[in-house]
Amino acid sequence: MSIKIENLTYIYNPKTPFETKALDNVNLEIKKGEFIGLIGHTGSGKSTLTQHLNGLIKPTTGKIIIDDLDITNPSVKLVEVRKKVGLVFQYPEHQLFEETVYKDIAFGPLNLGLKEEEIEIRVKEAMEAVKLPYEELKDRSPFELSGGQKRRVAIAGVLAMKPEVLILDEPTAGLDPKSRDEILEEVKLLHEKYKITIILVSHSMEDIAKLVDRIIVMHRGKVRLIGEPREIFKQANVLESIGLGIPQITHLINKLKTHGIYLRDDIFTVEEAREEILKWIRGKENA
Ligand code: ADP
Ligand code: MG
Repeated sequence: MSIKIENLTYIYNPKTPFETKALDNVNLEIKKGEFIGLIGHTGSGKSTLTQHLNGLIKPTTGKIIIDDLDITNPSVKLVEVRKKVGLVFQYPEHQLFEETVYKDIAFGPLNLGLKEEEIEIRVKEAMEAVKLPYEELKDRSPFELSGGQKRRVAIAGVLAMKPEVLILDEPTAGLDPKSRDEILEEVKLLHEKYKITIILVSHSMEDIAKLVDRIIVMHRGKVRLIGEPREIFKQANVLESIGLGIPQITHLINKLKTHGIYLRDDIFTVEEAREEILKWIRGKENA
């Protein structure tokens, strides 16, 4: 399922003193199965953009075409769009409301009118995908769970709709480093296993660099850069000018270059850097 965004502009509270242009002529194309990282400062328009993709917000001007279907056309049913595009909001645990984990995750599929057996299969599968033990947690109240578990319940609720596009708006915000790494790992596995299109919103380059196929950098409602991580990190000065850094380890690798040590230019993790530096040292020893 491809996504095409054409000349998308969005203005909150138009013609009032609170008028804000949140999106300013955005043009994008996302291919089926791509893993996209959407990055930018707070207020750059990331959430506004993602909410357009499942029809929650209608453009002020412009079009959003999902698989040849123009979802901005008033005749398109939003239920159909939401079956295809699943959006996990920022701090999604604020929207948990059922008395059990099972009921919360089953809410979406129930609204699709699915049979109970099918719903149960979906709830189990969705919980498994985010590493929540089904038997242990299905009858518990979501409010008793830890922060990371609550967030997983919210993600599972969207997965249970079997979307073809999964959008996660800052899924690791406010979590401790361990929960953060676990959730990112689960998202990575989801992409590998189900081959769905994923849009991961983050303000951490570190988090997305090692996961995604392409990075979209937003700034003040516009797409500022778009490309594979290594292409994006070559533009360190553009990133710095808008207050975003490159991963520290990529910065180190670039610095080493100025000292005549040339390593691969697509290293985004400390482990990879370690490997490459060791290789370089061994190469020296053997020379
Ligand atoms: P991000 O997700 O990148 O932090 P947002 O899409 O939330 O960015 O915000 C983009 C701009 O729109 C910001 O200037 C923000 O203040 C404004 N904005 C966001 N939501 C609303 C809203 N509900 N009402 C008015 N302005 C909003
Ligand atoms: Mg946001």
